[in-house]
Amino acid sequence: MAKKKRKSKAIQDKKGRGTKPKCGLCGKSAKLTKTECCDQWICDDEGKYVLFSYQRNSCHRNHRRYTLCDHHHVEGHSGSWKDCPECRADFESETEMYVYYGTSEYNFEILDNPPSFEPTKCTQCGNIIILSEDGYSCKSGEYWCEKCTDVNIRNIPH
Ligand SMILES: [Zn+2]
Ligand SMILES: [Zn+2]
Ligand SMILES: [Zn+2]
Ligand SMILES: [Zn+2]
Repeated sequence: MAKKKRKSKAIQDKKGRGTKPKCGLCGKSAKLTKTECCDQWICDDEGKYVLFSYQRNSCHRNHRRYTLCDHHHVEGHSGSWKDCPECRADFESETEMYVYYGTSEYNFEILDNPPSFEPTKCTQCGNIIILSEDGYSCKSGEYWCEKCTDVNIRNIPH
């Protein structure tokens, strides 16, 4: 059994001296954890994510999924992700995604000098595809926008 005497001390501690840690992304301080990749306070909210329903409402998940910081950590690179040649090489054929992951709102810090890139265009209709937002399909370096992908799927001979 837990010792009841502890209780009064816990209340005293709660009276908040000093600054409370806050999530570095949204500023909330309700339930926090630290990121494995960069040791920053972040909402401990992965459990909130429901598959295919709320898409990007979890700070923890967003940082894990949409940043170079996490990629760098998971891949076991050394040094800072911001000037990591290995990270850059991993996205060599998709500079657009490298820039997105390096400057997305889910970062605590962003790339100082993101490289420029040519917009990705649909092979079929020529419309620009925003890789981080739009639906698309790709095959051997070519991209198709969502519309053309749909059309192509329907036109596959049975
Ligand atoms: Zn948060
Ligand atoms: Zn991180
Ligand atoms: Zn790296
Ligand atoms: Zn298209």
